[in-house]
Amino acid sequence: MMQGNIFDIKRYAIHYGPCIRTTLFLKCCLLLCRWCHNPESQQFHPVVIHQVCKLGDHEFTEERTVGYTVSAEELVQEIRKDYVFFEESGGGVTFSGGEPLCQDVFLVECLRLCRAAHIHTCVDTAGAVVVPHLEEICRYTDLFLYDIKTMNRRKFREYVGECFDEVCRNLKTIVNSGNRVIVRIPVIPGFNDDAESIYEIITYLQTFPVVQEVNLLPYHRTGADKYKRLGMTWQMGNFESLKPENLQEFREIFRTNGYQIT
Ligand code: SF4
Repeated sequence: MMQGNIFDIKRYAIHYGPCIRTTLFLKCCLLLCRWCHNPESQQFHPVVIHQVCKLGDHEFTEERTVGYTVSAEELVQEIRKDYVFFEESGGGVTFSGGEPLCQDVFLVECLRLCRAAHIHTCVDTAGAVVVPHLEEICRYTDLFLYDIKTMNRRKFREYVGECFDEVCRNLKTIVNSGNRVIVRIPVIPGFNDDAESIYEIITYLQTFPVVQEVNLLPYHRTGADKYKRLGMTWQMGNFESLKPENLQEFREIFRTNGYQIT
């Protein structure tokens, strides 16, 4: 029985692909993005979070384990419960993370079972890992949400981590397999929130003419509190969360260059 590690299931999700979706968050990621709002996802194994709770005047610390092991069959059985919503809305399942491609064998099995159950499948990935089973993943995936953070190798290494070449290589494999791809760009203050960074990404994307859809994701600091609870350091300082209107200029640049902002 094929097993994998996940850390959350979100039902009725609307930001992880088209329509209403059930989103599975798989554990493990090789990157360490400074703004990551799910740092508890980065390790493959479950992690313990220390949470300060209040009961009246009394304050106490509670330990919570994040992550658990599940079989592909159990997971897909869980997803099937939402089938009626998928049918009504045109939605489906999204595998997110962490980095879902880190558990590629498990992911293939989950996708295969979803395909057999006629569930629309989406993979939300940053592509930053060597993926021996990527072609099988492509075969069972209807849509990829593909993170492009920067095309500046130095910045990538400084703010995100290694595996820049894998990001480019995996996107090429996915596009060549004929899959639909929506590129997602997290817009991060002090990192890529300038026209030059956006044009660098556009120049790169123009090498894949079939990629026409782009999502711009505004930076937010909702994960900042988790860092302390995990004994980690939040490295984004006091940068405030961005609002959708802060991205207007970048949306226009993409539109002018022929991209559909979805
Ligand atoms: S790729 Fe995603 S999960 Fe991985 S560190 Fe970056 S933001 Fe976090």
